[in-house]
Amino acid sequence: MSEFSDRSVAIVGSGPGGMYVAQALLEKAPGCRIDIIDRLPSPFGLIRGGVAPDHQKTKRVDQKYAQSITENDNVRYVGNISLGRDVSLDELTAIYDAVVLAYGAPYDNKLGIPGEDKKGVFGSNAFVGWYNCHPDFKDLGPNLNIGTAAVIGIGNVAIDVARVLSRTPAEMSTTDIADYAMNDIDAASLKDVYMFARRGPLEAACTNNELKEMGVLEAATTVVDGSLLPDEMPDDMDDREKKVRQRIIDTLKSLSEAKPGEKRRTVHIEFYASPIEILGGDTVEGIRMERTKVEGGRCIGTGETFDIPCEMVVTCIGSRAEAIEGIPFNERSGIVEHEEGRVAPGVYAAGWVKRGATGTIGTNRLDSYAVTDLLVADFGGNAKPGPDALDTLTQERNLQVVSFDDWLVIKELEEKAAPEPSPRKKFSTVEGMIEGLNAAR
Ligand SMILES: Cc1cc2nc3c(=O)[nH]c(=O)nc-3n(C[C@H](O)[C@H](O)[C@H](O)COP(=O)(O)OP(=O)(O)OC[C@H]3O[C@@H](n4cnc5c(N)ncnc54)[C@H](O)[C@@H]3O)c2cc1C
Repeated sequence: MSEFSDRSVAIVGSGPGGMYVAQALLEKAPGCRIDIIDRLPSPFGLIRGGVAPDHQKTKRVDQKYAQSITENDNVRYVGNISLGRDVSLDELTAIYDAVVLAYGAPYDNKLGIPGEDKKGVFGSNAFVGWYNCHPDFKDLGPNLNIGTAAVIGIGNVAIDVARVLSRTPAEMSTTDIADYAMNDIDAASLKDVYMFARRGPLEAACTNNELKEMGVLEAATTVVDGSLLPDEMPDDMDDREKKVRQRIIDTLKSLSEAKPGEKRRTVHIEFYASPIEILGGDTVEGIRMERTKVEGGRCIGTGETFDIPCEMVVTCIGSRAEAIEGIPFNERSGIVEHEEGRVAPGVYAAGWVKRGATGTIGTNRLDSYAVTDLLVADFGGNAKPGPDALDTLTQERNLQVVSFDDWLVIKELEEKAAPEPSPRKKFSTVEGMIEGLNAAR
């Protein structure tokens, strides 16, 4: 018996934010019972449904997360249970000594410009979810039989979108991209993808590794206007930053040597351009952009505009969390209201629902460990009933909980269904996963 064995914690969300809290609890409160609750039968959040299908190495972090569950009897995965729909926060706080909200930030930010509700405008969460088989977005149905698509942003998510739109079935054969998405991308008449960045090459929000991939696509050329690329780094930049930025500029320089139209598709990287209106009738027919400049670190519009005809727009401009009943929410920043991760007595926040949609998988680790320190320090009073009480509640409500063993059955079905050399053929609906599981039992 450890001093924590009568304690229990519910973590809501099994993405990186939640999984690092679980790992931290295993170290800092050994013996404490941990339930990781997720609204989907499939665990690990954006590792499965966000990270690009052609970045399988990155997705492999899920093996470490799985180990935290399979190697510890006091950790359970409670899948297919949604906070707000199946259980309330009040119910969880009555059952567990602490509740950690780690349910991510999956709602796309709006551009806030006229025309953005037209057919053919998609947020990146929806678009990425579509090609990643996320049950919420499998029916998105973007029409790719078009000439031109515009991608707003030049962060890594924007690059993911432009790259996946440019890949061939051969390049994607080792991935788990949704069949329906790969078929549409391959059959598409799409020729040009414009990526628009508000700022300049020195402020590009992507990482060099992602940018470099744009130069080695089998059937797409990436082009950029070389005259916009600086020969030298600014004096006021520190040495570390200079190194990082120089690598990006070097990659952009090599991309600037390519010519549009050399391959089936062309990705045009356009700096200093901000969208001001989506044009067309019910459906997108173009995008009006304003030229910008960066002065004293600030991006300002110049008043000069230009139009690019296009039939689809994907906005990659960040996202916000869901406001769930009973949870204090900051409407302006789109995150749960908290102080250093403390939301209310016994309630904490971690991951993107706490910090907003920024940073890498690793950023969540440091942050989740820090929140767990507070949580463990706050343990006090009489221990609450713990996981058995959740089981009673889910049984009373006739909810089908997907345990980690159940998930392993679903996972095996996906692996068996995949044609070589793809790692898995994902279910794209919750019903499909549950039916597959029930049939395999
Ligand atoms: C398109 C995309 C690509 C990315 N690629 C990379 C990359 O290559 N490398 C990298 O380092 N980082 C990448 N990131 C960033 C990384 O994915 C995030 O840092 C990380 O996933 C955030 O973790 P999270 O746990 O806060 O949220 P999420 O990963 O979104 O997890 C939230 C979890 O909560 C669950 N949930 C939601 N609502 C409820 C509810 N009501 N009840 C119960 N459960 C709920 C969800 O099902 C989900 O499992 C990418 C992000 C995006 C959007």
